[in-house]
Amino acid sequence: MTLVIDEDKCARCGVCEPECPNEAITQTEDAYVIDPLLCTECKEHYGEPLCAAVCTNNGIRKIKESLFKRYKNLFG
Ligand code: SF4
Ligand code: SF4
Repeated sequence: MTLVIDEDKCARCGVCEPECPNEAITQTEDAYVIDPLLCTECKEHYGEPLCAAVCTNNGIRKIKESLFKRYKNLFG
């Protein structure tokens, strides 16, 4: 599994970015993105994805790795 930010739901509020213990979330020109190589799903810190917990727009969700590759092909 990996975490992705849904651009359609993300309000670009920036709340999730400083919460990430691994600095896996960054702001690009027009979106917030999660680096799958840095994201550990917060397992070692909180036991659940903290970014998803603080997002009030339900904009962060888990997807399967195989779907993530397809997602990357579609949306970069
Ligand atoms: S907390 Fe949610 S709405 Fe705010 S920037 Fe992060 S993903 Fe987007
Ligand atoms: S799940 Fe945790 S490690 Fe992964 S991006 Fe969210 S806050 Fe960062």
